[in-house]
Amino acid sequence: MLTQAVTALAGVGKKRQDALAELGITTIESLLTYYPFRYEDVQERQLSEIQDQEKVTLKGTVVSPAVMSRFGYKKTRLQFRMMQNHDVFQVSFFNQPYLKDKVVLAEEIVVYGKWDAKRKALTGMKIFGSGKQDSFAPVYHVSKQIRQTTLQELIKQGFLQYGEQIEEILPIQLIEKYRLMARKQAIYAMHFPTNMEEYKKAKRRVVFEEFFLFQMKLQGLKQAEKAEVNGLVLSYDSQLLKSFIKQLPFELTAAQKRVTNEICADLKSPKHMQRLLQGDVGSGKTIVAALALYATTTAGFQGALMVPTEILAQQHMESFVTLFDQMDITIALLTGSTKSKERKEILTELKNGTIDILIGTHALIQEDVDFAYLGLVITDEQHRFGVNQRKILREKGWKPDVLFMTATPIPRTLAITAYGEMDVSVIDELPKGRIPIETRWVRPPQLETVLEWAKKEMAKGHQMYVICPLIEESEMLDVQNAQKIYEDLQSFFEPTFAVGLLHGRMKPTEKEQIMEQFKENELQILVSTTVIEVGVNVPNATLMVIIDADRFGLAQLHQLRGRVGRGASASYCILVANPKNEVGKERMKVMTETTNGFIVSERDLALRGPGEIFGQRQSGLPEFLIADIVEHANVLEVAKQEAEWLWKQSNWQVVPSYHALANYLEESHKENVFFD
Ligand code: ADP
Ligand code: MG
Repeated sequence: MLTQAVTALAGVGKKRQDALAELGITTIESLLTYYPFRYEDVQERQLSEIQDQEKVTLKGTVVSPAVMSRFGYKKTRLQFRMMQNHDVFQVSFFNQPYLKDKVVLAEEIVVYGKWDAKRKALTGMKIFGSGKQDSFAPVYHVSKQIRQTTLQELIKQGFLQYGEQIEEILPIQLIEKYRLMARKQAIYAMHFPTNMEEYKKAKRRVVFEEFFLFQMKLQGLKQAEKAEVNGLVLSYDSQLLKSFIKQLPFELTAAQKRVTNEICADLKSPKHMQRLLQGDVGSGKTIVAALALYATTTAGFQGALMVPTEILAQQHMESFVTLFDQMDITIALLTGSTKSKERKEILTELKNGTIDILIGTHALIQEDVDFAYLGLVITDEQHRFGVNQRKILREKGWKPDVLFMTATPIPRTLAITAYGEMDVSVIDELPKGRIPIETRWVRPPQLETVLEWAKKEMAKGHQMYVICPLIEESEMLDVQNAQKIYEDLQSFFEPTFAVGLLHGRMKPTEKEQIMEQFKENELQILVSTTVIEVGVNVPNATLMVIIDADRFGLAQLHQLRGRVGRGASASYCILVANPKNEVGKERMKVMTETTNGFIVSERDLALRGPGEIFGQRQSGLPEFLIADIVEHANVLEVAKQEAEWLWKQSNWQVVPSYHALANYLEESHKENVFFD
């Protein structure tokens, strides 16, 4: 059985089993699908066509006896001459004395090594047996305990004993439609391809399979959720909602209207809503959240809005209070710094249903927070929350509808994988009249010039943010750094302009006060660490200077930049950075070239890879063995469509050609831990 432990193979005892487990190899199946990360081209080559320093495989005849010499401490050199056609050259092997027996005068030999054209000599790395057939030698990630050759041998042995048991799991319909290589053949060829062509076909099959199986599981979950029509039905009052929208100080954009409709349709249906609302910074997600919460209250239910920072919670509270000014709606704010007496009151009023809308930080998910009739939960800037925090909040009600809002534009491929179980709504336009933010990248020595220019801009009545980096491990140092910049800017700008400082070590009340002063334009310049990163909305601030910008992720820079450009005036974002390498420079350039968050994140993904952008665990992103969501984005797309189509066919599992697939999914269901 493929599910058998690797100890079923000869030569695998307890010790080796442990060493293999460290590589993630536990069963025969995981051994056979432990794919090489690259291949050495070991096709036999001709002397006449090879380049200096190229790694090549050469076949020839041994024309001199092998001579072994020792030098230094335990160092050896094995030398002999070899002839290919009529050319003779020197071959040296270092520190592999045991190869001596393989070099036999006048016999044929196949050697792999590095060619030195000037000396006409080969530094040997391997000697292949005379039975060599492979053109490509697999190279695996290995460890000290498990060497390349050991692993190769084990894999070969695995195929010999268990290869026949590898069954096809994809339906014949898909294999034919996409001309996919058979499973058994493909898994084998991933290790031992006879040529490049075969390797490509094998990989194509394996990538498709990985994505397809993943999508099948994901869509399966989604179907199961949908089938459960025992979610809440929030029969909101659409007349009230309409008149509320009419009296807003602005007209909703077409995109805002569309997503509001999508959300409201979910509220009304017995289906349990799990929706992701994506919209670039400044696209106006808050008002959509407010509308959804308002609709919920008209249905007689309570709503909750969870945000990642106190500043943001405070800000939402203020705008909601203004928004619902004329209405009979009770809103409360609950954060870590809510006084215990007030907190007690809030908890009571939540329980007896007096409070309609609760806004807060993760203080919302503490155990003793109970709602009377929680109908809708919204998390803003949801990328800041871990999977577990979202889950706890969701469990606070009797399956309330859930809306996740994010401004971190997730590239579509990532969205499909990380949030595939959710429905997605996208706000793809900004409110009218916004002028795109102009972004420039300067080197640190130019900072003073920038500040001189900023003085002139601010003379027109605008305000400025100056952002200093914050590295979690050393918050103290960063605070000092911010403090220093704050003092420098004070001596540069005061008394003409007032400078304020905001950082994570300040008390919530202090932060609030500084924010308030900046909002009221009592402070014109706000020096801050990334505590203002998300959500903060001060439309009169049109200048943003980011110090050491290369220490931030692109998504984060985009977020920060989104703090300006929120009003009708032209806004500027200046990145001050001295990146050390090409990727760093490229990242700064990306920021200056586009203000579209989706493009930013696509480029970031391509530059840094998904693991760095989203913490693997945080996002629920699965790890694929071989498939790459960037490189194989189009395969992912196709796999998704096929999985969706299949799940739409009722009882597809009973169709004979799908039996193997259904069984396979059933089996792996037990270990399915992709999502919360
Ligand atoms: P984000 O999507 O980044 O959370 P916000 O909800 O904070 O964006 O909205 C950004 C700004 O745009 C706010 O000042 C908000 O009042 C304003 N706004 C939202 N929708 C519109 C609209 N349809 N027309 C004009 N201004 C709008
Ligand atoms: Mg927001």
